Amino acid sequence: MTAPARSLRLVGQAKYRDEAEALLNGPGDAALVVRGRARSVIMTCPDGCGETLVVNLDPRANKAWRLDMRGEGVTLYPSVWRDGGCESHFVVWRGVLIWCDRFTSGNVEPRYNPDIEKRVLAGLDATIPLTAEAIADAIDEIVWDVNRAANRLVGKGLARSWKQDGTWYFVRADEEDEG
Ligand SMILES: [Zn+2]
Repeated sequence: MTAPARSLRLVGQAKYRDEAEALLNGPGDAALVVRGRARSVIMTCPDGCGETLVVNLDPRANKAWRLDMRGEGVTLYPSVWRDGGCESHFVVWRGVLIWCDRFTSGNVEPRYNPDIEKRVLAGLDATIPLTAEAIADAIDEIVWDVNRAANRLVGKGLARSWKQDGTWYFVRADEEDEG
């Protein structure tokens, strides 16, 4: 068994899946399939099982992930979860691979910049529940960055969160107790 990958590196792009797959050398490698627009990300399963994973980016075809190239590396949203086989489940965030369920003890999140908290707080509503995705769209930030900041705000008592049908929602906390 090789050690699981802790980062995801884009090694290139190609027009078709088999061409993209040929660019991969091992766990942690990924390649884009681009025809007119980005269609999918092909990656060697980062747990080292040897399988190839296809992450769809085309909203016209089935469930689609978001690819974000801002920051130091690739970001994919939401998390990638393989239903069968090795059941790998992980987050790709600024080129860093964060494992869920397994291998979590070696996880190291991207560096935190608390400057984002003010903007996330401003993006929250006191009554309308918003997802991290919706807030990220509104303030033009990376979803995982917003998600982390929103959870820090919850920890500080400035926001509230709850899970409904598998999705987390955030609202600004009431400020009526202040002053
Ligand atoms: Zn695997």
